This record gives sequence, structure tokens and C-alpha cells, in this order.
Amino acid sequence: MRHVLDLAAAGLADWLAERGLPAFRGRQIRQWLFEKRAAEFRAMTDLPARLREELAAEFHVWTTQIARHSQADDGTEKLLLQLPDGGRIECVLLRDGTRRSICLSTQVGCGMGCVFCASGLDGVVRNLTSGEIVEQMLRLQQLLPPEERLSHIVVMGMGEPLANLDRLLPALDLAHRPDGLGISARRITISTVGLPPAMDRLTQSKCQYHLAVSLHAPNDALRNQLVPVNKKIGLRQVLEAADRYFEASGRRLTFEYVLLAGLNDQPAQARELAALLRGRPALLNVIPYNPVTGLPYQTPSPPAQKRFREILEHAGINVQFRERKGDKISAACGQLRRVSPG
Ligand code: SAH
Repeated sequence: MRHVLDLAAAGLADWLAERGLPAFRGRQIRQWLFEKRAAEFRAMTDLPARLREELAAEFHVWTTQIARHSQADDGTEKLLLQLPDGGRIECVLLRDGTRRSICLSTQVGCGMGCVFCASGLDGVVRNLTSGEIVEQMLRLQQLLPPEERLSHIVVMGMGEPLANLDRLLPALDLAHRPDGLGISARRITISTVGLPPAMDRLTQSKCQYHLAVSLHAPNDALRNQLVPVNKKIGLRQVLEAADRYFEASGRRLTFEYVLLAGLNDQPAQARELAALLRGRPALLNVIPYNPVTGLPYQTPSPPAQKRFREILEHAGINVQFRERKGDKISAACGQLRRVSPG
């Protein structure tokens, strides 16, 4: 049995054509899955009975099981999904005013090895399929009452999205298209550790997604230490690829900077960071470290955070501190983790 969400991401038009069925059936199927939140083919009552039977014989709508569902007082909900091969991933729904944002995973584990992040502790197991990425969207959408819609997507869960771009782009296309979730590209953010060849592919694809690049350090010596893949890449290459994305898309970039006490939160580092970003039309998103059990890193004190922020603001950098959400249920940035089966 195949995953209908993989078919929806690629090949649905051909599948219908092979059976001599009109293309508008594809639109109907997508509308049932995305807009009307159907969980089974039987519910798709305006499809011919024969087509419904054929779909049911060949495809699953869901391939994951909800292994755990956690809810925090701030409205954040996290799902631990069990994949057919036993792998486990997490995804999150965040509520903020009228915003309904979801945070998606793209891999089981992560191969980037950022020293402070929970997702990479056990390395990467495999890429998720497009269907598995889309299934997270639909599972999270089902947590909303019928009158509420998903408004934003951040691809900031487990894994490095640009290491799985071939599966991610068809999934995001379904999030974006009007007969999918209908979320505008500006409201879809891909966060990357900064892989220049894949960033260039994104640039060439002409998609209009918002790109966030994880910097975490203002120089290569420190970045090599915190983000080990940087040794093979280098800060300059990352920034140049980011500039190319900006030039092609016109989308203002975001740089992310996890603030770690005593490591990258010093005044000299704030000044170095300001010098690096000066002249770039970018937003600096500072994320005070969310503690991870078993790791030695610490969140800087409020005065240290304030000092860091003021230096950047005085230097004219557009800086924002990310509000922490979901940390009570370990759903905050960097806390998503592959949980061993059983
Ligand atoms: N692989 C992508 C997505 C990772 S998650 C990337 O590197 O961008 C999104 C952001 O959360 C990244 O900037 C990541 O470095 C950051 N992050 C990881 N662990 C964190 C933690 N414990 N506290 C705060 N932010 C963290």
C-alpha cells in the first residue's frame, strides 16, 4: 500500500490519466484531504464509487500513528508520530493570537551535529518522504476546530530541510497551492544550517519561501565549534549564498542566532556580529537557548541578553528575540528529539 499524500505530492495527475479519469478529480481529492480534512476515501462522496474503491485498495491516507500528544498551557501542542518503520518524529502546533503556526520535521534525527541541539544527538536515520512531511501538516490541522485554519509553516523541526530538498519542495507545494492548504509562500519559512549548493537550488527554483539561516557565531573559529558542518563550508560561503537568495527572491532574510551563556553572548561577539550583518537587509532572530537534558549549555541571564541586544540595536541591526513557547512540553526550538521505540 502506498501513501496517498506521496501521490498527492507527485504523480496524481498521471495516476488519474492512466485510468482515463479527468484532471479535476485530482483537485477534488486534494480538496477532500486538505480543506475538508477527510481521513478516509469513503468520505469523499462526490467521487465515483469505483474511484473511491480503487483509491482505498491502493493507498493509505495515514501512515503514522500518534504515539503521544502533549498540550501546554500556552496553547502549544506537540505530536510524537510513529512511522511505519518504527522511526519517530515530532511536530508542533503553536497558537499566537489568530496565528496558527506549525513546525515540521524533515528527517528522522539530524546529521548536522550542532552541539547544543537535541535533534542531532543520535545522528540522522533517514529522510522523510514528501507524504510524511505533508502528513504532519494534516495531523496538526486536525487538532484545530473546523473554523480555524493553519496560517504559517516553519520548517524548523527535526532534521536539516535542505538535506532533503527533493522531498520537501513537493510537500510545501501542497501547503501552498489553493487546492492544498492555501498558505501563501511568504508565510512558509525554511530554516537551514546553511548548505550553499542547496540554497542555490532554492534560489533557482524561484519559490518565494522565507529563508532563515542559522548562524550562531560571528566568525569561523566559533562557528566550527558550535556548528561542526561549518568546517567544510565557512561563514562567508553561507552569507554569499544567502545574499544570492535575497537578490533573486527580494525576500528579506532571517538569520538565527541561538544565544548560549558564556559561549557566543559576549559584547565583543555582538559587535562582530553587527559588523558582519551591517548593510544586509536582514532580520536577526535571537533565540535564547532552550535547555536540553544531558547537554551542558545554559541560557544567558536576562541582563546578558539585554546587553547583547542593545549592542546590536545601537549598531542599527534589525533584531528580534524569539519568544519561548512550548518548552514545558519540550516542544521549543532544538528540543525535538527522536525518541527510541517502545
Ligand atoms: N536544521 C535547521 C532547522 C533546525 S531548528 C537549522 O539548522 O536551521 C531551528 C533553529 O533552532 C535552528 O536555528 C537551531 O540551531 C535552533 N536550535 C537548535 N537547538 C536549540 C536549542 N536548544 N535552543 C534554541 N534554539 C535551538
